Amino acid sequence: MTVVTRFAPSPTGRVHVGNLRTALHNWLFARQQGGRFLLRIDDTDRERSEERFVVAIRADLGWLGLDWDGEARQSERFGLYKERFAALREAGRVYPCFETPQELELKRKVQLGRGLPPVYDRAALKLGEADRARLEAEGQRPHWRFKLDHDTAIEWDDLIRGPHRFDPKLLSDPVIRRANGSWLYHLPSVIDDIDMGVTHVVRGEDHVSNTAAQVQMFEALGAPPPAFAHEALLTGAEGKLSKRLGATDVDHWRETGNEPLALAAKLARIGTSLSVEPVASMAPLVERFDFATFGRAPARFDEAELAKLNAQTVHLLSFEQVAERLPAGMDARAWEVVRPNLERVADAADWWHVIEGPVAPEVVGEDRDYLRAAAETAARIDWAADPWHALTGALKEITGRKGKPLFLPLRCALTGRDHGPDMAALLPLIGRERAVARLEAAASPLP
Ligand code: GLU
Repeated sequence: MTVVTRFAPSPTGRVHVGNLRTALHNWLFARQQGGRFLLRIDDTDRERSEERFVVAIRADLGWLGLDWDGEARQSERFGLYKERFAALREAGRVYPCFETPQELELKRKVQLGRGLPPVYDRAALKLGEADRARLEAEGQRPHWRFKLDHDTAIEWDDLIRGPHRFDPKLLSDPVIRRANGSWLYHLPSVIDDIDMGVTHVVRGEDHVSNTAAQVQMFEALGAPPPAFAHEALLTGAEGKLSKRLGATDVDHWRETGNEPLALAAKLARIGTSLSVEPVASMAPLVERFDFATFGRAPARFDEAELAKLNAQTVHLLSFEQVAERLPAGMDARAWEVVRPNLERVADAADWWHVIEGPVAPEVVGEDRDYLRAAAETAARIDWAADPWHALTGALKEITGRKGKPLFLPLRCALTGRDHGPDMAALLPLIGRERAVARLEAAASPLP
């Protein structure tokens, strides 16, 4: 069996971390199994779907590092839905209903008032031909419900949540098509999952009750249901997916300097028993992906932890992975020197400026003589091997300084900063000429 998974967003907005996580899990599983990962654009809602969101969904998945083996749009598949709908109607599994939303609301209130579950009472099934003809003559157009089979319990063994069992009598027959002919989510999704050979449906646990109804739709359409994995929802650090996190799109994560690999490492593992670790490629995430490690408690997405993970991720990235985002001229050697000091790749540019100069040295007046000695020493030492140790070794002997008073004035004069990458690695990049000039400048009294 070839595994086929899909990510099926509705293009009614930008994707947020919760959706990205679902997409990632579908992708990871498909890649691990040597299967196929499909992108399905659920754009049956013509009014709310927008092309710019389709474009953004593709870009956002691409940014995260996901690729897909096929793409489909539900708006191009209405012919197929109509055909399957007709077959279900023929088989008596869909039926027309004429209740208004107000009438349905009233029924629900009455049921709840009596302490009964608010399940649709199937009144429309009792309408005869004549009733329907009359209603249609009055200009009423029906909406359509899928008729659940009350005699067959609904069961599936969820890959994350374990065995599930629903009594269909406690579910409302779902509305699948509106009076204007447009489609609700349920049926097109099942038709597509069958048509595209989807073997595993991986989505949020907010879909569990949809799945209950859909299991019967698969059966009514003559197809065995796929495997289901319903993941616990994502929450923010404070315990629920905050409005802000839910409204935060990929641009935010990119613009704040987050590496896609950091976000992927986090989204792949939170809510599982595996530890969240920085990765330099998707390979370890693909390899260790396992539904059995997913817990049922919400997955906590903590932005402060992401920042830490991001820095650790940056420290693992090779020059090739970041080259096009580095300032012109910055080479692999410079990248490796500054990398351990970075929280974000973009910050490499600051250190490149420190290397290239000009820098404004920070000098304490009492260090001027010391720095003059440093300039003279820097001009005569051997730069070929290890100029930093040659320089500080010689200065230690000449001045008797050691520790911080030996090193810090040099760092400040050479880089204009009191902290940063290992000077032994940095100094060769600054080079003799610039280093001597910077030490001389720092040693001269202010004009
Ligand atoms: N378009 C649906 C959603 O975004 C798809 C759910 C599913 O994966 O079946 O919720």
